[in-house]
Amino acid sequence: MSNTVELDKKYVLPTYARADVEFVSGDNARLVDANGKKYIDFTSGIGVVSVGHANKRVNDAIYKQISNITHISNLYYTAPQARAAQKIVEASGYDMKCFFGNSGAEANEGAIKIARKFGEKDGEVKRYKIITLQHSFHGRTITTVKATGQAAMHNYFGPYPDGFVYADSIADVERLLDNHTCAVMIELVQGEGGVQPQDKQAVHDLAKLLKSKNILLIVDEVQTGVYRTGEFLASNYYEIEPDVVTLAKGLGGGVPIGVVMTSLKDVFSAGDHGSTFGGNYLSSTAACEVLDILKELYESGSVAKIVEYFDSELEKFYNAHKEIFTLKVGIGMMCGLRTKDADTLAKVISNAREEGVMVLKAGRNTLRFLPALTITKEEIDEGFKSLNRAIASL
Ligand SMILES: *Cc1c(COP(=O)(O)O)cnc(C)c1O
Repeated sequence: MSNTVELDKKYVLPTYARADVEFVSGDNARLVDANGKKYIDFTSGIGVVSVGHANKRVNDAIYKQISNITHISNLYYTAPQARAAQKIVEASGYDMKCFFGNSGAEANEGAIKIARKFGEKDGEVKRYKIITLQHSFHGRTITTVKATGQAAMHNYFGPYPDGFVYADSIADVERLLDNHTCAVMIELVQGEGGVQPQDKQAVHDLAKLLKSKNILLIVDEVQTGVYRTGEFLASNYYEIEPDVVTLAKGLGGGVPIGVVMTSLKDVFSAGDHGSTFGGNYLSSTAACEVLDILKELYESGSVAKIVEYFDSELEKFYNAHKEIFTLKVGIGMMCGLRTKDADTLAKVISNAREEGVMVLKAGRNTLRFLPALTITKEEIDEGFKSLNRAIASL
């Protein structure tokens, strides 16, 4: 056992089924482990390292910032936070304001608080119910785990906060609305649930229905946001105007940051919500640089080109292995292959690691790909070569 594994096993709580690999460095979509073995990374750290590992522009921006000041608290104005908010709102095209936290779960907690405060004040009766979907994933705090519509995640830790109701699908939401409903929260492409995109017409119908009933639409874009689908937000891709949007994973290029943004600009007053670390100089400087890089790549057409290339290579790979994969799913750089069974999927993932390419699992039987948006054609080609070897050695 290496020293790291020994220390981890002795001192870190065993909440993760870790793979037996320790990475020591990275360069865009390339990784090197402690034995010097090289890998192509099709995961970008679960959609986090959106502009690649060791991105020089992000690192330079961070070094420059932290050599001046890293943190002061939200009791004072912070220039990079204000600029990050402007960049996020402008890229979204929505008329919104932002609140900064540190993670996806914290962003969703903020969204839930916005919905509850809105429901408290707006209407005849106090509205507090939030409808979410089966197979959703919204986080690991007590409240967001309850917002997550997967019964297996509610085995312990109760009692939970009241007021979460699970719909089987978007079409099933209407049946569950009552005069206590304040919001509906959805992922437009369910990430952990199996890279499952929602039907566009169903989403439009839902948005229209909720607007007519003055019920908020919260879109959890923690995984789909920051150009993951090829557009800045999946909400842009679906051409809807949500009331509340949450972001986190890809926003800081690896630095922890989460955002809840809303068109309800007056819903919170001073003291209603807060965060010690949220949007400090470090994280919001990283976010500003990530947003600048990705905006440039988006506007030059590079994002669309690499999304198209990855998709065509994935299609080839899928067509070559139909005995193992049953369906290609996802949008943009958030894609997957349904695998015939969970055992085969586990073997594909461990063989892939042996052959030098990192891929993810989603849901019960989906092979998931979340590559950096800066991945090159060469890196994609190498990755699929290794994946083909992984299948050959099944
Ligand atoms: C990852 C994820 C979360 C949780 O984010 P954390 O940063 O782990 O708290 C919430 N919602 C969705 C859709 C996610 O993919």
